[in-house]
Amino acid sequence: MAKRKALTEDPLIRKAEEVEHLREFVEKTSFAGDEQEVSGELSAGVDQHPADFADVTEQRGRDYAIKQLLEQEAEQIQDAMRRKAEGRYGICEECGQKIPKARLKARPEATLCINCQRRFEAV
Ligand SMILES: [Zn+2]
Repeated sequence: MAKRKALTEDPLIRKAEEVEHLREFVEKTSFAGDEQEVSGELSAGVDQHPADFADVTEQRGRDYAIKQLLEQEAEQIQDAMRRKAEGRYGICEECGQKIPKARLKARPEATLCINCQRRFEAV
């Protein structure tokens, strides 16, 4: 009997796994592979040019930016998980309103409602 790894229904956990996976991938392709030529597959979403030296430098900068972004995202997810454990998940950090389900579906790590997020980003 094949034992299948249970697919979690929790979008937050799924997202956490996804981000973790991406982080590992970026780690492997960009930093561990510093000395050797990075071949073939690179991070999803990064368009790739035939590598000459300038491109490699640029690529590394981009990898770094991606890594930072992923770390930020991982932090947000951790935060959301903590909130979930405390029973505060899905409630806006700023105004205390419920965050709409549709938003949580799109961004399970969101801790702000759209209005507050907008205000936050506008600053
Ligand atoms: Zn709010």
